[in-house]
Amino acid sequence: MILSSQDKSFDLSVPIIVIGAGACGICAALTAKENGVESILLERDETPSGSSALSTCLIPAAGTKLQREEGVEDSIDQFAADLIAKAKEQNDPEMARWVAEASGSTVDWLVETVGLPLTLVKGFKYPGHSVFRMHGSPNRTGSELMGVLTDTIARENLDIAAPAPVTDLFADESGHVHGVRITRPDGAIEDIGCQALILACNGYGGNLEMVEQHIPEMADALYFGHVGNQGDAVLWGEALGAATADLGSYQGHGAVTHPHGTLIFWGVLTEGGIQVNLEGNRFSNEVRGYSEQAVDVINQPDHVVWEIWDHGGHELGLAFQDYREGLEVGAIREARTIDEVAEKSGMPPAALTSTFESVEACIRGEAEDAWGRNWQGVELLQPPYYFAKVTGALFHTQGGLVVNEHARVLREDGTLLPNVFAGGGAARGLSGPSRWGYLSGNGLLTATVLGRIAGREAAKLIAAK
Ligand SMILES: Cc1cc2nc3c(=O)[nH]c(=O)nc-3n(C[C@H](O)[C@H](O)[C@H](O)COP(=O)(O)OP(=O)(O)OC[C@H]3O[C@@H](n4cnc5c(N)ncnc54)[C@H](O)[C@@H]3O)c2cc1C
Repeated sequence: MILSSQDKSFDLSVPIIVIGAGACGICAALTAKENGVESILLERDETPSGSSALSTCLIPAAGTKLQREEGVEDSIDQFAADLIAKAKEQNDPEMARWVAEASGSTVDWLVETVGLPLTLVKGFKYPGHSVFRMHGSPNRTGSELMGVLTDTIARENLDIAAPAPVTDLFADESGHVHGVRITRPDGAIEDIGCQALILACNGYGGNLEMVEQHIPEMADALYFGHVGNQGDAVLWGEALGAATADLGSYQGHGAVTHPHGTLIFWGVLTEGGIQVNLEGNRFSNEVRGYSEQAVDVINQPDHVVWEIWDHGGHELGLAFQDYREGLEVGAIREARTIDEVAEKSGMPPAALTSTFESVEACIRGEAEDAWGRNWQGVELLQPPYYFAKVTGALFHTQGGLVVNEHARVLREDGTLLPNVFAGGGAARGLSGPSRWGYLSGNGLLTATVLGRIAGREAAKLIAAK
């Protein structure tokens, strides 16, 4: 809720308040400090984790030192072009460019200054990325990302209050935010004043009412992100007169094991894997993107399908902690023949064999794929086969507050709110209006890049006063 700041005085006041201590919030607080201005992170949970900790920690960036060391040629233009193409030109091209421009230095900073042990992910390209530009932590897990980021909170002496859910903002009629109200889990209320506010409390994936309103197609889907992301940034922003955009935009994922709930590395599909429904029939072009695949999976009988791949994908998958967990909990199974896959999964063997024959015909160039999948350069799956029952899930929302290149929140008429910044899932992302525009890594890209920009620009705003 927005409370009036008229006649309000604060016992405690800080230069910058950052709401949310995920990747975006911590990057923002660290950067503000680098620029000589103190902040306080206010985090709803006892221990910061957010969706950032649930992620696979894959961060795309162009022009990084890691790319150069590996001889990968990339450019801001090429990255921006990939971002715009994936969103079918329905995202903000200017934003694609300024985010791409800041991405390389952000990843270099995460590696060299923050100490995050990223490497360039090679071996397969994520859908829509024209070169190798995905950077990942050793086990490809967000717990490594958040482990390193939370260590920096102590190392850099950043102020943090947790658990400290922010429930209200104090603002005047111009939309200038003068402070916030924390309502502690025991009901105690604390008000803190600020000169600038950074909204880093992600989107509304955890708020079913907002999902039903903006993304009805995913209302019944499993939500795989952080439950504490309740859409507060959008709700406060709207009440302050901020512009929002692309509220129907999100990242889904079409390969979460059912009922185990582990994530299957998407490369098993790009390496030749397929998805079939319970009748053993393919139903889509599996490789156009994991986000758009989520709805196709949910629309199949019982909202589940079988994913089948082979040793090539399996070997690549072993680099991912999520994949290894899938093996450990028995979500990923193995079979020596197609008939054995059918027997173990309960699919009709004749239909599954016929599906494999159609795929083989496409790979040999003897038939067109019914769903337009390009099979060039892909080899027919070879035994042993790996397979898992999967469903589609909502990972995180991509619409949000409209920000400019300084991560400042804009009003509908394009003017600036006086002192409000946003980044990560709180801000409108680069994925266009729907599910199909998500280029792999768009989540942590805007969390880290906009976090950096928001921290720097909020510090500048305060220094200019
Ligand atoms: C399973 C999964 C895998 C993913 N893998 C990737 C990947 O490999 N690469 C990629 O780019 N993206 C990935 N994403 C998306 C990525 O995790 C998010 O886009 C990113 O973490 C968003 O960062 P954030 O800092 O904005 O939000 P978060 O990390 O969610 O942090 C927001 C924080 O705000 C806190 N908060 C919320 N409301 C309040 C409040 N009112 N008061 C105080 N605190 C509040 C929350 O508790 C939370 O800690 C993945 C997402 C999921 C779910």
